[in-house]
Amino acid sequence: MSISNLILTYVVVLMGGLIAVGVYTELRRRRFQPSASEDRIFRCRRCGYVYTDDPDVDRSRCVQCGQLNEAIEF
Ligand SMILES: [Zn+2]
Repeated sequence: MSISNLILTYVVVLMGGLIAVGVYTELRRRRFQPSASEDRIFRCRRCGYVYTDDPDVDRSRCVQCGQLNEAIEF
């Protein structure tokens, strides 16, 4: 095994390690992102009831009194 082969092997191992660490970090970051806050929060203007609904709806009907409410933006 020549010196250039050793260097090449070292570089390949180093690059592979860096890529593995990068992928691992990315997977960890995705896993720890909050998933509970994806739902939209609504607060009824008539009775004050606070509830959540799917993120793709702009307006949601109150479960208590039927009033149509808009989502609370943070
Ligand atoms: Zn209500």
